[in-house]
Amino acid sequence: MLRLPRFEVATPKTVGEAIARLAEAGPSAMVIAGGTDLLPNLKHELFTPELVVSLSAIEALRGVRVEDDGTLAIGAMTTLAEVAASELVQKHAPVLAQAASLVAGPQLRTMGTLGGNVLLDTRCQWYNQTYFWREALGFCMKKDGTKCHVVEGGKKCVAAASNDSAPALMTLGSLLEFEGPSGRRTQAIDDFWLADGIYNKKVAHAELLTEIRIPPTGPGHRGAYGKLRERGSIDFPLLGVAARVDVVAERITRADVVVTALAAQPKRIARVADVLVGVAARGEELDRAIEAVAASAAKQCNPLANIPGDHEWRKAMVPVFVRRTLRAAVDGNGPVHGD
Ligand SMILES: Cc1cc2nc3c(=O)[nH]c(=O)nc-3n(C[C@H](O)[C@H](O)[C@H](O)COP(=O)(O)OP(=O)(O)OC[C@H]3O[C@@H](n4cnc5c(N)ncnc54)[C@H](O)[C@@H]3O)c2cc1C
Ligand code: SF4
Repeated sequence: MLRLPRFEVATPKTVGEAIARLAEAGPSAMVIAGGTDLLPNLKHELFTPELVVSLSAIEALRGVRVEDDGTLAIGAMTTLAEVAASELVQKHAPVLAQAASLVAGPQLRTMGTLGGNVLLDTRCQWYNQTYFWREALGFCMKKDGTKCHVVEGGKKCVAAASNDSAPALMTLGSLLEFEGPSGRRTQAIDDFWLADGIYNKKVAHAELLTEIRIPPTGPGHRGAYGKLRERGSIDFPLLGVAARVDVVAERITRADVVVTALAAQPKRIARVADVLVGVAARGEELDRAIEAVAASAAKQCNPLANIPGDHEWRKAMVPVFVRRTLRAAVDGNGPVHGD
């Protein structure tokens, strides 16, 4: 049985108090939200904090609301189950409701939060292992070692961004609200990621993600999420595809596709809008346009052997999932499962 290491736990009741505890303790302190990723990682000795600051008692961080201008605001501690079941999210941001509904399994979605999902550590089959397992292999660059087992001689960690909410939030043009020792800041999710699997996010120590803000989506907004995984009931994505298609007067007015679980950051497929905008939302013209985007995505995506699942097979699944997910978005359906 894997045991948790010893650490102190603080349960502040306000954001200010939490930031103060984190800042005071320095790098030896970590944040815990639902704990569904952090606790396994602590058991694997991937992190060894002396203090863990829980956000569970901060009521201000929970809930979903629509503001007067149509912005959808979701507190970082809102659980994934709540996000998936929220009628507001389903109406204004269907791709996010679908992505949240496919994270892990029901128990993990009941505890796991949207904020924790955005801030999920990158994953790699050589890293998400016990200390004993990693030691037998001589560790790796992301933790305790110097080499990479995925890219021989590689100088940069390529552990995979594996959070299902990230591509969905990117197609929605979301903003992340942070609060930290230097005050508040707003960060566009598109610019939040770093191409570094060791740490792939622009967030400083003691900064808390407080809210996820989704700009107004119009009545013609549609979105869908597609997910390839080994076991449909629980697993992390082997490939995640978020598709956005806005349709006005039966024509596509906006389109976007973002994929994840390839490398350290989610990837926006280039030239999707060029191909799809202006196309009729049904018929042969649409079929051809979707095929063109799927073929282009296949060329743009090169999964690495960083997470389980044969990477050649994952590559072959890119056009399949882009095609199916775009089709589901246009038709107002989804999510797209595959295992
Ligand atoms: C078996 C299994 C299957 C899983 N499958 C999936 C999957 O399919 N897809 C997927 O995306 N995830 C999956 N997960 C991971 C996890 O359950 C989810 O990503 C979940 O959303 C994490 O949220 P949490 O609240 O539990 O985060 P935690 O584990 O509490 O925290 C995760 C990270 O975020 C930081 N953090 C959390 N909240 C904040 C905040 N507000 N401000 C600053 N930092 C913060 C923590 O310090 C930590 O580094 C799986 C986990 C398990 C165990
Ligand atoms: S890609 Fe995997 S093996 Fe390579 S350094 Fe990163 S975690 Fe380690």
